[in-house]
Amino acid sequence: MKSLNQVEISAAALRHNFRFCRSAVQAKTRIMAMVKADAYGHGMIDCARILVDEGAYALGVAEVVEGVALRKAGCTVPVYVMAGIIPETAETAAAYDLTPVVGDATSLSALNRAGKKQACHIGVHIKLDAGMGRLGTLPVDFPLLVEKISGFEFLFLEGVLAHFPVADDRESKTTKEVVALFNEAISYLEGRCQHKCIAHLSNSAGLFYEPEAHFDMVRPGISLYGYAPDGHKSVLAGKKDGLRPVMRCTSRVIQVRTVPEGTGLGYSHLYTTRRKTRLALIPVGYEDGYLRILTNKAQVLISGRRASVIGRISMNLTMIDITDLPFVKVNDEVVLLGEQGKERITADEIAEWMGTIHYEVLCLFGRMNNRVLV
Ligand SMILES: *Cc1c(COP(=O)(O)O)cnc(C)c1O
Repeated sequence: MKSLNQVEISAAALRHNFRFCRSAVQAKTRIMAMVKADAYGHGMIDCARILVDEGAYALGVAEVVEGVALRKAGCTVPVYVMAGIIPETAETAAAYDLTPVVGDATSLSALNRAGKKQACHIGVHIKLDAGMGRLGTLPVDFPLLVEKISGFEFLFLEGVLAHFPVADDRESKTTKEVVALFNEAISYLEGRCQHKCIAHLSNSAGLFYEPEAHFDMVRPGISLYGYAPDGHKSVLAGKKDGLRPVMRCTSRVIQVRTVPEGTGLGYSHLYTTRRKTRLALIPVGYEDGYLRILTNKAQVLISGRRASVIGRISMNLTMIDITDLPFVKVNDEVVLLGEQGKERITADEIAEWMGTIHYEVLCLFGRMNNRVLV
C-alpha cells in the first residue's frame, strides 16, 4: 500500500540532463556527478546507477557513510568524499576505496595507516579555499600540505579542487579571481607531482558559464536534476531541449466540500472565506516537506489548472480553493511540483514562495516522501 503522496523521479529526464551537461564540456573533460544529499532528494542509488550508465567518471558525496552505501549497491567508479574525512572515518574510507578530499593535514596519518593496512596507495585530493571561504586550505598553506602528503609512504596527491562561491552570478568578479588562484595552485604542482593531478573546480554554474574553468573534470549537481543554478531567470531556463526537471510531486484529493462565506479555515483561522467556497483537501503537510511557510502562498495544479492553497498548512492536511474548478472530485491527482496538462510548477517557484532556493525544495520534498523511479 502506497502513500497518496508520491515523488516521481524521471530516469529519462536525468539521462537527458546528463547528456545536456556532457554537451557543454569537451569530450576529454570528465564528469563527477554530485549525488550527495540522496542525490538532492532524488535517490542516491538509483540516480548513481543511471548517471554511471550515462558515462559519469566519478560520483561525489559528502560523507563516508554515503560512499559505503554506493559501494554496497555495487558502484565501482571513483567516489569522492567531499566533506567527511576525519581520522575516525579514514579507515572505512580506505576499506571501501573512497577518494578522500582533505583541507588540512589532520587526517593524513590515519589515512596513511589505513593505506598500509589495505596494502594500497591512497590518492588524496586537496580542497583549496580559493575564495569560497569555507572548507579547505588557503593558497598560502597549499605548498606545505602538498609536501606533507608526499612525505607519507601510502599516500599520493591525486588531485586538487576548489569550489565557486558565486558562479551563479554571472556579473561577479570573484569567479575570475577563484579561477586565477586555482591556476596558480596548478602551476605550483607542475613538476612536483609524480602523477598527473586531476584538477576540478566547476559546479553546474562553472560548467555552463565558465568554459575556461572546466579543467580535467566538472562536478555538476543541480543541473543533473534539471535546474539552472541561477534559477528561472537563467539563460539556460528557456533553452529548447534544455534542462528537464527530474522530480514531480503529487498528492490526491481526499475530500471535496463547500463552506459558507465568512468561514475561518484551519488552525488559527489564518484565512476567512470571502465567498461561498469549495475546498479540496489533500493529505499533505509540513511532515511531507510542504512547510507552514507556504500557508496562503502556494499554488497547486488540479485538472490541469492552478489553484491556491488557503489556510494554514498543518502536519498532514492542506486546503485548496477549488471554487472555480467545479469538476474536481475525490482521488483526483494534485500536483505540488511538476507538470499537469499544459501547466507547470517548478522548484524555483516554490522556492520563491518559501523564501529559499530550489536546491532546498528538492532536498526537502524528495527526502520526506515516498519516491518512485519512472
Ligand atoms: C554540491 C557541490 C557541487 C555541485 O554544485 P551544484 O551547484 O549543485 O552544481 C560541486 N562541488 C562541490 C564541492 C559541491 O559540494
